Amino acid sequence: MSRHRAPSPVTRRGALVAGAAWVAGALAATSGAGLRLPSSTAPQAEALMAARLPSSAPSAASPAAPSPAPSTPAASTPAPTPTFDRSAHSTTDATSPWVVVNKTHPITPADYAPAQLTKVAGEVVSAAAAPDLEALLARSRDDGVSLTLVSGFRSRDYQEDVHRRSVSRNGQAGADRYSARAGYSEHQTGLAVDFSSVAGNATLSPSFGQTDEGLWLAEHAGRHGWLLRYTEADQAVTGYNPEPWHFRWVGVELVAAMTAAGAATLEEFFGVTGGPDYA
Ligand SMILES: [Zn+2]
Repeated sequence: MSRHRAPSPVTRRGALVAGAAWVAGALAATSGAGLRLPSSTAPQAEALMAARLPSSAPSAASPAAPSPAPSTPAASTPAPTPTFDRSAHSTTDATSPWVVVNKTHPITPADYAPAQLTKVAGEVVSAAAAPDLEALLARSRDDGVSLTLVSGFRSRDYQEDVHRRSVSRNGQAGADRYSARAGYSEHQTGLAVDFSSVAGNATLSPSFGQTDEGLWLAEHAGRHGWLLRYTEADQAVTGYNPEPWHFRWVGVELVAAMTAAGAATLEEFFGVTGGPDYA
C-alpha cells in the first residue's frame, strides 16, 4: 500500500467509477444541463462545442487565439476540469430531477404527487423518469439479468402506512433507519424505484447487493441516469441503512458529473444537509 496513494472517495465506490468511459461520454455530450468543456478538451470535442455554444461563449479556448506563452496554453483558463452548472435545476422543487429529499428536506408541498405518472414494469413512476427506466430494463434483459420492480411512486398517505407498519415492527428508532416518514420519502417524487429479481431472491434485503441483479445495477444503473442512493459508506450522509435495491433517477448528466467529482451522494455534490436526524 503506497502511502502516497490513499484511497480517494471515488475509489472506495467502485460501482460508481466502474463506468469511467461512459462518464466521459456523458460529460462530452452536453444536453442542456449546463456543462461547459475546458480548453484541454480534445480538439474534436472542442469543435463540437464551438458548434453548439452561443457566440458569447468564452473564446480563450480557441486554438487560433494568439498566446503570449505558447508552452503553457492552458495557463489563462481557470479550471483544468469540466465545470458543471449545479444550479441548472432546483434541488428543492419537488418537480425537479435534482430534488434532494432526506430527513432534513421534506417534500413540499407535503401532499405532492407528480402531475404525470406512468407505469413501467407494473409500477407507477414519474413520466420524467420512465424513458431511462425503460432503457435500463431493456439493457438488463440484453445482459441476461432479470430485474423486476417492487416499488415506484408512493403517495404521502401510502408512505404513512409503510412507516407505521415499520414502527410497529422495529420501534421508532429502528424504523427511521429503514423507512422514511411520510413526506420525507424519495418515492413520493415518483423518481425512485426499488428493484428486485424475477426469482425474488433477497427482495428488499441487504444481500440483494450481492445477487446478479444487485451487482449489475451497481455497475450499470448510472449510465441510464439512476443513482444508487443509500450505500454502506454513506449512511452518515444519507441517514439510512444501505439499500442496494433503491435507486433514484437524476439523469445521466448528473450521475456523470457526480462520478467525475467523486461525490457519491446528492447531499455532498450539492452541499445540502442530510444525516440520520429529522429536522
Ligand atoms: Zn426505495
